Amino acid sequence: MEHPWTWDQDPPLRWLLVDEYTGDTGAALGVCAGIDGLFAEPEPPPEPERFTLVGCDPAGPLREALQAASAPSGDVQARAWLPAVMLDPVHSDPVPGGCQRYDVGCSCMEELFDVEVLGHRPSIAGDGLVDAELRGRLRILPEMHWPPAHPPEARGFLLHGQGNEPLGSCRSTIGVFHDRPFPVEQPVTLVGCRPEEPLLTLMRRRSARNRHLQATVHAVDAAGRAARTYKVLSAVVIGSAPSRLDAGLLDITLHGGFDEPFPDGAREIYDLWYAGRPSRRNLWAGYDRGLRHEWAGAALFHRPHQPDRPPGLTYDLDGRFVTDIEGFYCAVGEAVNGPGGYFGWNLDAFDDCLRGGWGAARPFRLVWHHAEVARDHLVPGYDRPPYDLRSWGPAVTMDDLLGMFARAGVTVQLR
Ligand SMILES: [Zn+2]
Repeated sequence: MEHPWTWDQDPPLRWLLVDEYTGDTGAALGVCAGIDGLFAEPEPPPEPERFTLVGCDPAGPLREALQAASAPSGDVQARAWLPAVMLDPVHSDPVPGGCQRYDVGCSCMEELFDVEVLGHRPSIAGDGLVDAELRGRLRILPEMHWPPAHPPEARGFLLHGQGNEPLGSCRSTIGVFHDRPFPVEQPVTLVGCRPEEPLLTLMRRRSARNRHLQATVHAVDAAGRAARTYKVLSAVVIGSAPSRLDAGLLDITLHGGFDEPFPDGAREIYDLWYAGRPSRRNLWAGYDRGLRHEWAGAALFHRPHQPDRPPGLTYDLDGRFVTDIEGFYCAVGEAVNGPGGYFGWNLDAFDDCLRGGWGAARPFRLVWHHAEVARDHLVPGYDRPPYDLRSWGPAVTMDDLLGMFARAGVTVQLR
């Protein structure tokens, strides 16, 4: 969207806060030179934990993994491993309060993932059952479901794997349900801020409860164009003072912050977009997977809204730097939509782009140059993207991508 903040301003005002959640939806709260806390060192992935499935009657791959873990020798590690173990509680009637049924399972489910099966012993529960020892991670989605400190009311758990295959059952668990401290919120300061009326009103309120703001962050470029990012600031205004950058502006301190700030390294990407759209391809090629992901995100946020090019065209994908799936998303974005172009930044989004409406109308032809790079790197296995625990799972392979192109009616020529 276009905004009126295109005056010659020093320092440049680069971040626009828009309230899209309350009353006057879409109201600009203010624009600022910087937001301390918008970029931060990413949290390290959680350490693996020890879990016990008590009174376990294993089935399928879990049974095989337990046998492999007990085998005296051989390739034990490779076989005694499972991508995921879902714990699906078997509730009595009535189900506990807050429980929501899904097609498979309910909202009380927990997921262990990247699970190493260490071994088993006869269960304290008897009945020929075993207690299975695991080492893995609990999948935590802070915005949807924080794991409770106590197990749900249940007679036991049905166990299943990532593709819903049955893994048997257990009666209870050790190590899954306990207090897990919430991550410490990083303090946020709006630096060099020019508040608009809704924010000024909020700042004048006496009670902290009434000074809560929730706003999406838009990146404003040198030409005054604002691109909405997915970053949401949720915080209470604590105080304000004349800015250290410019006495005509304010530094506004907040309590609260961002669920997931940009990683520090992404500053460079947003500095580049501030100056204008990238003019060359492959400026992302030197980045690691995490920053390539941020590159594709910035491409999404800045994408121009314009009609698709007509069907029947040929696009060239420079495959030289497709050494990971994030590199593929960057490369296919530039193949279809030019330097800084976007054409998906995860598998679902890519699938969506293939259906049209994202730059290229079907059918089209794609010439994939230096396809051998992706052939060597996008291979089957278990993938741990460094930036997003929820996408830990089966790796996206080159064959997966070629299958998706084929189903979308895109002819791919590998060079
Ligand atoms: Zn439930």
